[in-house]
Amino acid sequence: MQQIKAYGVQSATQPLGPLQIQRRDVGVNDVSIDIAYCGVCHSDIHQTRNEWGNSLFPMVPGHEIVGTVTTIGTGVKRFKVGDKVGVGCLVDSCRECPDCKEGLEQFCTRPIFTYNSLEKDNKTLAQGGYSTKIVVHQDFVLRIPDNLPLDRTAPLLCAGITTYSPLRHWNAGPGKKVAIIGLGGLGHMAVKIAKAMKAEVTVLSRTLDKKDDAIRLGADHVYATNDPKTFEQLGRHFDLIINTVSVKLDWGAYLGMVKRDGSMVLLGVPSDAPELHAFPLIFGRRSLAGSLIGGIKETQEMLDFCGKHNITSDIELIPISKINEAYDRVMKADVKYRFVIDMASLNIFLYLIIVFPPFIAHQGAFAFEAVDSLKAAYFAPGELREHYEKHGYQFGSITEEQYLQGAQALLDASPGGDILEKIRPNGDVEHFRISTGEFAVMTKRGRIRTYFRTNYEYWIRRE
Ligand SMILES: [Zn+2]
Ligand SMILES: [Zn+2]
Repeated sequence: MQQIKAYGVQSATQPLGPLQIQRRDVGVNDVSIDIAYCGVCHSDIHQTRNEWGNSLFPMVPGHEIVGTVTTIGTGVKRFKVGDKVGVGCLVDSCRECPDCKEGLEQFCTRPIFTYNSLEKDNKTLAQGGYSTKIVVHQDFVLRIPDNLPLDRTAPLLCAGITTYSPLRHWNAGPGKKVAIIGLGGLGHMAVKIAKAMKAEVTVLSRTLDKKDDAIRLGADHVYATNDPKTFEQLGRHFDLIINTVSVKLDWGAYLGMVKRDGSMVLLGVPSDAPELHAFPLIFGRRSLAGSLIGGIKETQEMLDFCGKHNITSDIELIPISKINEAYDRVMKADVKYRFVIDMASLNIFLYLIIVFPPFIAHQGAFAFEAVDSLKAAYFAPGELREHYEKHGYQFGSITEEQYLQGAQALLDASPGGDILEKIRPNGDVEHFRISTGEFAVMTKRGRIRTYFRTNYEYWIRRE
């Protein structure tokens, strides 16, 4: 077993924070991957908050994983150290059922999902990609095409395959009219992929606010669904509608826009299901269907397709410390179009707190107070934030130069020299090296419990 740094939740009501997890040692058929980036999928939010009622805790979410192979088992022939690889929503399956045998592992009756699932031994919790490392059976590891930048490729492992699979299955291609409902993480990938498949692509969005963006992403047409005329104008128009949204829609009205023998495919899960009358299905022999990610073979096919057509996701790259904020923004659909976590930030993670105690403010200098980001015994991350906000501090970030300036000022004012020491009420000693931002906590028994180098985040009080 190896100890791995991760970020996740202990229960459904907590914000995400640092966690230590264990991963198995590399077995004969295993590939160990240093995770470079992990995308943030809406289902991460559902599951950390137990909104589907099936969550297993503690949980480290993340199933849009990309990184580099660092170790391989003796039986691994398809990968070598240094390869750029990805891991999606599945890390194993039963391998025996008809679905597995056809390469449709996503429909296996005993799939092993990347997280919120039990591993093959039926007792170890599978933990996802908000972590520095993952060990996966080679059969569930995917090859990333050389020409694709890793960070923008991460979302292909879920959002990419979730949209590619139904477009392929329902034959999106030249001469086909395809509509995409919703222009979010899934929708923007669906537009790019459908366009590369040479279909005529229409975006159906609630308003025309995202029209320019939809066109930039490759859509041929954009219609607003808050305008009833859209449904008349586009009656019996589409061969295929891909519904990427998880809000309740009038499915019957949308099916009215589908041609004879056409289909509408659901990818999102509304919390309460709309009622559907049989008429829109009977008149026009239409189908209402669903689709779930894709099998491993098809996921590799999708990655190769995206490599060939240079398709990646539009992303906003964030450090792990911004993850709770990112979740809030996903809930408000305020992201273009996928958050991706830079996992290097987990290695150097620290909340650095700058305060202006009056005695130092008087000298015109900064003072820094570093806070143990593991803080199990002190603060949960949300509590920390709450605590400082209550006292009038705001969260922000500073440049290295500003940091060093402040550190120098503190150094000048500090008789203890470069290292500040503080004894905590429980007897642990904090060491904070001003010149580098390194921070460690020495426990009473002399063990170093945490060690970080700051990433220059801080709390600042507005005077
Ligand atoms: Zn996902
Ligand atoms: Zn199976």
